[in-house]
Amino acid sequence: MERFDVVVVGAGPAGASAARAAAEGGARTLLLDHRTELGHPVQCGEFVPTATELGDLFNCPELIARAFVVPESTILRSTRWMECVSPYGHRFRFPLAGATVSRRAFDKALAYRAEGAGAELRFPLGATGRSGATVRTTDGETIEAEVVIGADGPLSTVARSVGLPRPRTLYRMITATVEDPGEDGIDLFFGRDAPGGYAWAFPRAHDLNVGLGVARLPRGRTLSDLLDRFLAHRGFSPPRDPTRWWVPVGQPPASLVHGPVLLCGDAAQLVMATNGGGIPTAMLSGWLAGETAARHVRSGTPLREYDTAWHAALYEPLARAAKIQAWSDPYTALDPLLALGMRYIGARGLDSMMRLRWPARLGRGT
Ligand SMILES: Cc1cc2nc3c(=O)[nH]c(=O)nc-3n(C[C@H](O)[C@H](O)[C@H](O)COP(=O)(O)OP(=O)(O)OC[C@H]3O[C@@H](n4cnc5c(N)ncnc54)[C@H](O)[C@@H]3O)c2cc1C
Repeated sequence: MERFDVVVVGAGPAGASAARAAAEGGARTLLLDHRTELGHPVQCGEFVPTATELGDLFNCPELIARAFVVPESTILRSTRWMECVSPYGHRFRFPLAGATVSRRAFDKALAYRAEGAGAELRFPLGATGRSGATVRTTDGETIEAEVVIGADGPLSTVARSVGLPRPRTLYRMITATVEDPGEDGIDLFFGRDAPGGYAWAFPRAHDLNVGLGVARLPRGRTLSDLLDRFLAHRGFSPPRDPTRWWVPVGQPPASLVHGPVLLCGDAAQLVMATNGGGIPTAMLSGWLAGETAARHVRSGTPLREYDTAWHAALYEPLARAAKIQAWSDPYTALDPLLALGMRYIGARGLDSMMRLRWPARLGRGT
C-alpha cells in the first residue's frame, strides 16, 4: 500500500491550496483529482474579489496575504463595480473591486503551484471511499496517510464518509458564455430571471459568463428553460457550452475535523450565502487545513487546531451571510415586493448587505 503524510482529495481551489500549504510545511503530500482536465468543464461564474475587498469581509489579513493569491496570468478582466438589477430593470451600482479569472486556467495554475511546492499531483484519479486515514481510488488501489483532506466539492465523497449532514440548501446552478464585450463591472439579477435565487452576467476578456442559481425549480421548468428565458429577457445572445452544478448554502458546520479527516471549501459547505461566492473561502480554508495537517505530521499538534483556525478566520462572516440570506429569502418570492425592497434600501443598502453590515440587528452593524 502506498503511504503519504497527507492525501488531499480534489484539486480545486481548496485542495490545491491545502496541498501547497501541506507540502510547504514539510509533509509528503498527494493531491488527486478525478477530472481528466483540471478546471474543466467550468462550473463557476469566475469572479473573485480583490484581497482588499476580501479583507473587508474576513478579518484575517495575514492569512489572506498567504493563501489568497490569484495568479496574474489567469485574470481575464479587472472589474470595478457591482450592479444589482431589480425584477423591473432598475439598476443599483456600487463599487466592488475584483476580477474574472479563467477557472480553466486558474485551477491548473493553483494545482501546479502545489506541485511546485513539492506535492505529488495525480489525475485523473478519483477517490471512491475513505475509512480511517486510507483512501480507496478509482484504479482499485488504497492509499494510506496520516491525514486526509476532503476538498472534493459540494457532493464530496469524503464529507459523506464522515457523515457531515447535508447543507440547508443545495442551489441548482447553470452557467454558460454569451457573445458580448461587457463592461468593467459585474451584474446580479434578482426576481423573475431566477425565482428565489439570482442570475448573473460577468465580463470575461471578450465575452460574458452568464448563469443563474435557484434553490427550487419552478414546476415544469428546467434550468435550461430558465437560462434561455433570462438571456432572452435581458437581450443576450443564445448560450454556449452550458454546464450545471451545485452550491451549498446555509450555516457553516460547527466542526470540520473528523478523526484524521479535515474538510475544506465546498466539501465543508463554506460558501458566502449572500452571493454564492466560494473561491476565496475555499482557498483560505484549504490553506488552514494544509498548514494544520503539516504541523500535525511534523510535531504532533492536534488536528482540532484546524477548527480553532477556520472558526477565527471565517465562521462569523459566513454565519452572518447565511442569516442575511435566510432573512431576505421571503422577499425574493414576489417580484413587486422585491422591487420595492430594492428601491427602498437602494445602492447603499445593497452594498451594505453584500458587505454583511445590514441589517445591523443580524450582526456586525458597523
Ligand atoms: C455555476 C456556479 C457559479 C459560481 N460562481 C462563483 C463565482 O463567480 N465566484 C466564486 O467565488 N464562487 C463561485 N461559485 C462557487 C465556487 O465555484 C466554489 O465555491 C469553489 O469552486 C469551491 O472550490 P473547491 O475547491 O472547494 O471545490 P471545487 O472547485 O468543486 O473542486 C473540487 C475538485 O474535486 C474534484 N473531485 C470531486 N470529487 C472527487 C473525487 N471523488 N475524487 C477526486 N476528485 C474529486 C473535482 O473534480 C474538482 O476538481 C460558483 C459555483 C457554481 C456552481
